[in-house]
Amino acid sequence: MSFSCKNYDYNDDKCLMLKQECIPGRPGCVLEGRIALSETLIERIKELEHKKGSGSQKKK
Ligand code: SF4
Repeated sequence: MSFSCKNYDYNDDKCLMLKQECIPGRPGCVLEGRIALSETLIERIKELEHKKGSGSQKKK
């Protein structure tokens, strides 16, 4: 990690605020909408959204 964030837990490699994996710029992150994301980060956020979507789908 090449930045410093007060919410980042260096021992656990997780976000203390979101209690999830730190992906700078992810939804809920303090940096959301404030930084230009690299393609790698965009991919990680997309994967995250994809996982969320497939895990919470309900049949009607
Ligand atoms: S997800 Fe965002 S708020 Fe959380 S530790 Fe990473 S950079 Fe900080």
